[in-house]
Amino acid sequence: MKKLKFLLILLIIITTFLLIYSILSPNIIINQRKINLGDEFNPDIEIYNLFEDLTDNAIITENVDTKKVGIYEIKCQIKYLFFRINRSIVVEVIDKEKPVITLEGNNPSLVCPNGIYKEEGYTAIDNYDKNITDKVSTTKIDNNIFYSVKDSSGNETIVKREIKFVDEEKPILTLNGTNNITLYLGSKYVEPGYRAIDNCDGDITNKVIITGNVDTNRIGTYKINYEVSDSSGNKATTIRNIIIKKKTISYGNGIIYLTFDDGPSYLTSKVLDILNEEKIKATFFVTNADIYTKRAYEEGHTIGLHSYTHDYSYIYANSKNYFDDLNKISNKVHDVIGIYPRIIRFPGGSSNTVSRNYADKIMTFLTEEVVNRGYTYFDWNVDANDAGSDINNSINIYYNVVNNLSHNKTNVVLMHDSMGHIATVNALKDIIRYGKENGYTFKAITNDTPVIRHSVNN
Ligand code: ZN
Repeated sequence: MKKLKFLLILLIIITTFLLIYSILSPNIIINQRKINLGDEFNPDIEIYNLFEDLTDNAIITENVDTKKVGIYEIKCQIKYLFFRINRSIVVEVIDKEKPVITLEGNNPSLVCPNGIYKEEGYTAIDNYDKNITDKVSTTKIDNNIFYSVKDSSGNETIVKREIKFVDEEKPILTLNGTNNITLYLGSKYVEPGYRAIDNCDGDITNKVIITGNVDTNRIGTYKINYEVSDSSGNKATTIRNIIIKKKTISYGNGIIYLTFDDGPSYLTSKVLDILNEEKIKATFFVTNADIYTKRAYEEGHTIGLHSYTHDYSYIYANSKNYFDDLNKISNKVHDVIGIYPRIIRFPGGSSNTVSRNYADKIMTFLTEEVVNRGYTYFDWNVDANDAGSDINNSINIYYNVVNNLSHNKTNVVLMHDSMGHIATVNALKDIIRYGKENGYTFKAITNDTPVIRHSVNN
């Protein structure tokens, strides 16, 4: 009985002790166990027992870096009455943000019907891992490409690019030469050519359809239509206007057109000074282009083409040589003054017979062909003979000109401003004075000047 009583008392003591212990024992509560990367960490630890808040009795050590993903231990040491408690609590800094995939190029991406999609590029940037483009994997399913990437915390992003196999782009249709060609009645129209390039089909020049026709024997404006479609039915069209015009031929305008061949040279500047002083315009058929050519053009004179080589044996050997030479001087002039002159003069004139030495009937062919190509050629009907026996004789040059002027014709005067023609320069002022005193006007040759042409002898 005594033993039982003792056990009972013991039980009461233990119970009481446990009760007191549990009443006094500090409870530790931490509210923040998971912290998002970059968020502020505030341990927010509560320590208390039934009677009071014991937070002040605790020493807390922590080294949580919220900028670094990881698991951190927080140590909590409490001294209170007879309690000595050491607790460690775990918190985790986590990254919940997904990487961002940016697609370069187009979405949807347009690819030619028979084409192959070429990757247009992409980048993947993660808030924590930074650039993870190299971790992107691509998968092609039907006409879609899926780009997926996971950051080191396992956050996954998937982006889709759609591929459309279509051609919505028109071919590019370009015409050789100009879109407006002026030809004279009775000449021949030669198609200058064209080119059609498609983004998907490549060169489709042979698919160009041309409609419309030109009657060079009838005055008017003719439209040539060019049309081309690519294999997806995208159509491109363009038009060329051919203007057929009557060339006025009149021998009675009484105007003097001074023309200077074979320049420019240093003498050109002297010629320009005189023309400037006398306030008249002239025409230069050039074999080169330089600052004097530029000055002549800027001062309102006409620049015509003569020849690049002025070598009869070359230019009159065949028509290819002739046009190669003409294109050369044309490009040279274009480089200097920015235009391609359309007014020309044949070396030796269209009536020359020297060409017979190199090719039979070449002048017959060339005089037609230059017109077909849109050029207007001029010969002359007043010869200063300054490239002949009177090269050094200013007086003869003067009379050669003034004795052949007439109010009943269009006076196209042949002179030279190349090296060695100082006598021409010396006669020029007197020629102009004579013209002015006798009621003539001076003009530069234009497209509207009546043509003066010799008869062809070869
Ligand atoms: Zn010449």
